[in-house]
Amino acid sequence: MEIFSEYSLKSLNTFGLPSTAEFFARATSLDELKELLFWKKNKNLFVLGGGSNVLLMNKVPGLTLHNVLKGIEIIQEDAEGWLIKAYAGENWHQFVMHCIDKGYAGLENLSLIPGNVGASPIQNIGAYGVELKDVFHSLEALHVKSLESRVFLAHECEFDYRTSIFKTREKGNYIITSVTFRLLKHPVFHTSYGAIEQEIQAMGIQTLSIRAISEAVIRIRQSKLPNPTQLGNAGSFFKNPIIAATHFHLLKEKYPSLPGYPQPDGQVKVPAAWLIEQAGWKGKRLGNCGVHTHQALVLVNYGNATAHEIRALSDAIVHDVLSKYNITLEREVNVVGE
Ligand SMILES: Cc1cc2nc3c(=O)[nH]c(=O)nc-3n(C[C@H](O)[C@H](O)[C@H](O)COP(=O)(O)OP(=O)(O)OC[C@H]3O[C@@H](n4cnc5c(N)ncnc54)[C@H](O)[C@@H]3O)c2cc1C
Repeated sequence: MEIFSEYSLKSLNTFGLPSTAEFFARATSLDELKELLFWKKNKNLFVLGGGSNVLLMNKVPGLTLHNVLKGIEIIQEDAEGWLIKAYAGENWHQFVMHCIDKGYAGLENLSLIPGNVGASPIQNIGAYGVELKDVFHSLEALHVKSLESRVFLAHECEFDYRTSIFKTREKGNYIITSVTFRLLKHPVFHTSYGAIEQEIQAMGIQTLSIRAISEAVIRIRQSKLPNPTQLGNAGSFFKNPIIAATHFHLLKEKYPSLPGYPQPDGQVKVPAAWLIEQAGWKGKRLGNCGVHTHQALVLVNYGNATAHEIRALSDAIVHDVLSKYNITLEREVNVVGE
């Protein structure tokens, strides 16, 4: 196991930003993880997965630890399904494809989300009507100070919309080493969200299957989202804000086309993309970065952007949306370094 200094992270983040780690190492086993945590002592720690949900500033101080633990195991099988454990460094989409090939149902709507398995619980990834929490059984994580392993069950992870305990109260305290999923033998199809049903019809599919849903989701995603290998980005930059119903109704009087999705607690979720687009930002370019032409939630690097430029663009959007709608947009992307 080698520890590099002044290591370039440019090829390890989907924004393609020129960031440098003070120290960098890959951990391929639990023992290597512990050794690196012991080595780092009081230095900062940044755990890197697929780099698809981070805005890496020019310098990342301390140790950047690339978690590349691999492996997929069947933990249990019964009449209903399986418990499947995947290690943190497995690529998420390849894991989803593996499950579809084996007939393990439940992950198909989450096809083609970039990143690794280890980060999937951090923000409770979600797409097309399914969230990680719907298929989650448990995870194993290493405490970065005590170096003790702990199992977290679903109710201990405090999953919510694009968040979990690992993004809030326990942020930075644990390294997730594996995630176990509860997958089904008899699939429950989720096709009502987004354009899945139309896409399945357009594909001429007569018999619904987990593979058909996965293929439909992949086609929709490819038509809507920029491919990070061609245009640097980190997916949705902002979360959809959830606002008080009174606030929503006041806005709706002024902007009748404003969409709103009532939440169980009486608040209303508003699409951040609508706010950003109506504020005139969609397709806008500022120097080396901009807002994607087809998807206002996605900020893109046109090639030579720095993290400071992207952060400045996001700050300008937040400021503008706040002044126009009195809504503070929250970043979904994690800002790392200085
Ligand atoms: C084109 C595109 C589309 C996307 N679409 C979606 C979508 O539909 N739905 C969605 O939810 N997200 C989406 N995302 C965001 C992203 O793919 C997910 O958040 C993904 O789970 C991030 O995984 P990662 O391995 O790249 O994490 P990274 O970006 O490497 O890390 C993200 C955060 O998690 C922490 N972390 C990573 N691994 C570990 C670990 N093992 N233990 C502890 N902490 C860890 C990091 O320190 C960092 O704070 C999209 C991104 C892109 C680029």
